[in-house]
Amino acid sequence: DRESAAAEPLPHATTADGHRVRLSANIGSADEAVRAHRAGARSVGLFRTEFVFLAADGLPDEQEQFAAYAGAVQALDGGRTTIRLLDVGGDKPLPPLTSTEANPMLGHRGVRLLLDAPDVLRTQLRAALRAAAHGEVWICVPMISGIAELAAVRGHLDEVRAELAADEVAHGPVRLGVMIETPAAVLAASALAREADFFSVGTNDLLQYLVAADRDNGRVTHLLDPHTPALLHAIGLVVAAAHAHGITVSVCGEAASDPAIQPLLLGLGVDELSMTAARLPDAARAIGALSAAEARIVAGQAAHADDADAVRALLESAPPTPQ
Ligand code: PEP
Ligand code: MG
Repeated sequence: DRESAAAEPLPHATTADGHRVRLSANIGSADEAVRAHRAGARSVGLFRTEFVFLAADGLPDEQEQFAAYAGAVQALDGGRTTIRLLDVGGDKPLPPLTSTEANPMLGHRGVRLLLDAPDVLRTQLRAALRAAAHGEVWICVPMISGIAELAAVRGHLDEVRAELAADEVAHGPVRLGVMIETPAAVLAASALAREADFFSVGTNDLLQYLVAADRDNGRVTHLLDPHTPALLHAIGLVVAAAHAHGITVSVCGEAASDPAIQPLLLGLGVDELSMTAARLPDAARAIGALSAAEARIVAGQAAHADDADAVRALLESAPPTPQ
């Protein structure tokens, strides 16, 4: 029936002038990976593992996590799955792991919390390494603000891998990369790019922290405009640092599925866009109508424009389509 008919595979989108950008899905469960694959996704750019934890009764143990991660990896049928380490705290409370804080968005969240809960971190790393025996797995560290945090996670990863090897538990190779979602990570992108295997830009958080406006506070929503030149400038810096060190940059925040922003991301040199699978066909179509050469010109100007309105005006006066 039509419900179960598989859509056309969409591993990437190609601009009118032949530039390719990888398309990936954002998921929160193994079931969602199955649906994403059916919708055409051939890689996962962001597995928000918070949802595995929120769905569990208490903290999910290694076996429950392994089932979720391996389930996604198998659904992708050889395609890569980027498993983001638990990112609770901030806008995603998970008591008793998280506590009430005066400024949760600036508090004990993401990698900060994980490094203070090494048992939780190591259980998750074991489950991810075991899932990697079934297909390609990348592990992504959320809320990084400096290389020390990445080095600490890599230390745990190496130890956990050695444990699995000693116990002869099946596991596979992984890449370890970081979310770029703090201004500090942007400004330290060169150092991070030496140590990380890939970058994934979380534009939702990066924008909130760049303009210092809580993404859940309706009174400051007008500041959270992805056309903001500061955000585009930041992404440009991140791409330059990544490419200088031979690693790729994905964007997995809301901006990745926004047809108004896609030409700018493409023009800034982003390698991959990750979004809810339902948006992939529209993204492929929209990108297919663009010129990468024109997008590069517009994006370069947009990153240095006066404000978000000026960026919108630029896009209107010189749409990045084939000339
Ligand atoms: C982001 O910050 O853009 C992101 C993708 O992560 P989350 O929305 O889960 O914080
Ligand atoms: Mg985020």
